[in-house]
Amino acid sequence: MITRRSFFKVAAGAGAAAAISSSLTDRIFALEPRRWNSTQPSGPILLNSNENAYGPFPSVLAISNPFQDANRYPFHSVDALAHKLAVAKSVRDDQVLLGCGSTEIIKLAVNAFTSPQRKLVMAAPTFEAAEMHARAVGTPVAHVPLAPDYSHDLEAMLAQAHNAGLVYLCNPNNPTGSLTARKQLESFITRLPSDTYVLMDEAYHDFVPPGADYKSFIDAPIANDRLIVARTFSKIYGIAGLRLGYAVAAPDAITKMQTQSQSDSVNAFALRCATASLDDPAAHRLAVQRNAADRDEFMRQTLRRNLTAIPSTANFVMLDARLPVKQVIAHFEQHNLLVGRPFPPYLSHLRVSLGTPPEMVAFWQAWDALPQTNTKVN
Ligand code: PLP
Repeated sequence: MITRRSFFKVAAGAGAAAAISSSLTDRIFALEPRRWNSTQPSGPILLNSNENAYGPFPSVLAISNPFQDANRYPFHSVDALAHKLAVAKSVRDDQVLLGCGSTEIIKLAVNAFTSPQRKLVMAAPTFEAAEMHARAVGTPVAHVPLAPDYSHDLEAMLAQAHNAGLVYLCNPNNPTGSLTARKQLESFITRLPSDTYVLMDEAYHDFVPPGADYKSFIDAPIANDRLIVARTFSKIYGIAGLRLGYAVAAPDAITKMQTQSQSDSVNAFALRCATASLDDPAAHRLAVQRNAADRDEFMRQTLRRNLTAIPSTANFVMLDARLPVKQVIAHFEQHNLLVGRPFPPYLSHLRVSLGTPPEMVAFWQAWDALPQTNTKVN
């Protein structure tokens, strides 16, 4: 298994050989090795992976026989959920592809649209999965630093788009929680070379507050056959452990991605729980409200301490720790809290996934025990 340190070499483009020699799962778990113990009562508080601290919706927990049909292959259930999503999103069934988490969707897009000759363009920092899959197949990766307001620097990305097979855009962006303005995204997509695809990762879509300069490219589509939108059941729906995500795109793009897929990577249990989640809009509303309240409270606590945080539209916040982030991460580990990994080049910024109120009390207690933060609780 590679270490956290060697992963970042890979992420920085210096370790392609290391990336190829270990599995993707190894590499992702190497980022947060301790989360294997997370379900133990005495285990650490997990504010490190942008999960939903409240768990699945009550209607999912109440499913009377979750193992019904577990003896059958899930083909019919895959089609049924794809159809349900297609109806909900006003698209055709052949415009929806399910995956083993949206991480699989990212992998399929990288495999379908990039190659050693057709690079991947992505921001720095952003969610790293696309890069890891690209390196595994020898695709060169162009990193474009975020703009000073933490939006995607679309002009700089455009300048890199020559010979790009795929541009990965994460909106809201992980790890910053920031948005890129809808109009700018639209204009960017239309100005790309005519054979370059775009993967718009909307994993944190549900958390965007009303009034933000944001519209999902699923809910408000544009006419472009090279745009793929990825969503997940891991965040707002709280079933990250069940691994279910999906893509919405033009039929031809879906076919190209499907060709790369294992075809039975989604399991019956996940499909059943996702279906129950979609059938529970009240729980969805509650989850959105709860996250907004938790995020507001987090910002209040930062203000009390005269800290600066990047305004977040997601279920995590990036905080300027004013200290080397590795030192801060180690401090929290000593207090039995796991927080986000380092995200170069922001090496004094800490990504904190929002936990339950008691978990956040523990977070701020540990924060206040940090040496040399020069912050004062008002
Ligand atoms: N996309 C983004 C932006 C993420 O932050 C994450 C996970 O943190 C994922 C995708 C992976 O989600 P999934 O659990 O659906 O594979």
